[in-house]
Amino acid sequence: MKPCELCESRKFKTIATKIREGDGVIAQCAKCGFIVQFLHWDEKRLRNYYEKEYQITNSLISGKRISAREHFEERIKTIGPLFERVRPFLSSGMKVLEIGGGPGALLSLCKPLVKKCIGVELNTEFVKFMQRDLSIEAYAADINKLQLKDRFDLVVMINTLDHLPNPLETLTTMKNLLSEGGRIYLEIPNRDEALNFYLPQLQLADFRKFFWHRAHLYYFTKDTIAALFNKCGLHIRTTCRHEYTLKNYMNWYFTGRPQPGFVSAVSKNELFGGKSDFETRMNKLFAGTEKEFKKIMSETFRGDTLCCIGWHTDSPKARRRRA
Ligand SMILES: [Zn+2]
Repeated sequence: MKPCELCESRKFKTIATKIREGDGVIAQCAKCGFIVQFLHWDEKRLRNYYEKEYQITNSLISGKRISAREHFEERIKTIGPLFERVRPFLSSGMKVLEIGGGPGALLSLCKPLVKKCIGVELNTEFVKFMQRDLSIEAYAADINKLQLKDRFDLVVMINTLDHLPNPLETLTTMKNLLSEGGRIYLEIPNRDEALNFYLPQLQLADFRKFFWHRAHLYYFTKDTIAALFNKCGLHIRTTCRHEYTLKNYMNWYFTGRPQPGFVSAVSKNELFGGKSDFETRMNKLFAGTEKEFKKIMSETFRGDTLCCIGWHTDSPKARRRRA
């Protein structure tokens, strides 16, 4: 068994044996609390899973294998809240690298605002799409094995680190790709999200089974991601956001099931499709509540996503602070 990525302990306790896809083993380090999935798959089996099963079970359009262009067009509809988080970092002279960014929806928005964008992604179809359709420099490669000449002012990774077998090595690689004063922007699922704790008993069991997922090899809390950053020699500042709607939360609350389709689950909070006075006013009520809901999720750190900004402990700013 591999020792804990964080503290090197070999003592784990099993915390779940049922996952979204069936049987599985989710375990927690007895010493530091880091959560891992024990999945004894070699690289070939993992690649096979991503190329065949994953693209159907995790498609942005439920149950359908979609093309790179379709994936791009679906993702761009919901990328607004993420782009708002990234935009404050961007300026005209900078170089941006995104790792695991799919067909490049986020980079396509960053590109007009910066000097240079590069995408590194394992899926060759997505890489071809970035090169051909978005004119973005892109590589189909493992970032830990790729020799990039550039150093970057911003290295972005969205919901990818938890899929990788080697988060410590990957985060270290990201750190080494930073230019002087550069920043990492990383988002990952929040193990402590409200749905994992606050639902009626039966629905809670349903959500927990859904939450543990074959593709996610690691599960992070605010504390364990901070420990990983610190171990790599990075400072970290973490905030939280919730991508899904209140309607989605209520759907889990009453039915114990996910909504079909990612786009509607993160963007459609209307209860009714008609235009009557009643329907219009009820939809307005929910639209107003949505903002307050997102605020609560963010401020209590119970949202589905942890948003982490990292910088070198040896950055000029950190050196000045020590002096
Ligand atoms: Zn540990």
